[in-house]
Amino acid sequence: MKDCIFCRIINQEIPSTKVYENEYVYAFKDINPAAPVHVLVVPKLHIESLEGLNEDNLENVVHIHRAIKKVAEICKINKEGYRVIVNCGEGAGQTVWHLHYHVLGGTKMDEKIL
Ligand code: 5GP
Ligand code: ZN
Repeated sequence: MKDCIFCRIINQEIPSTKVYENEYVYAFKDINPAAPVHVLVVPKLHIESLEGLNEDNLENVVHIHRAIKKVAEICKINKEGYRVIVNCGEGAGQTVWHLHYHVLGGTKMDEKIL
């Protein structure tokens, strides 16, 4: 989608720091990190949010989860642990309308919200 910032990042129209990429997903460093490791994992297909998932695009979830494990390994946080967050919708604080999974780690996360 031409007006989507993450589609433009995927298409290399906007620079980003790539962590991992395959045919289905792109993973890059968050511009405003909330932890020492803060990577966004996004499907290459434009899906607005978790609510935009349907039977036709649901396979992307598997690709995203596989990529999250890769990212954790690449960033060396797979052993110590990491947190994965998806903000879905305005009420949850979603600001970019292209499905993205936040992968956070590299520090002891003492604050538990759940
Ligand atoms: P949300 O608030 O929608 O869950 O997460 C959006 C995330 O995208 C934020 O953490 C924000 O820092 C990040 N972000 C927004 N614009 C850019 C950008 O142009 N480049 C990168 N690397 N991250 C971005
Ligand atoms: Zn998009």
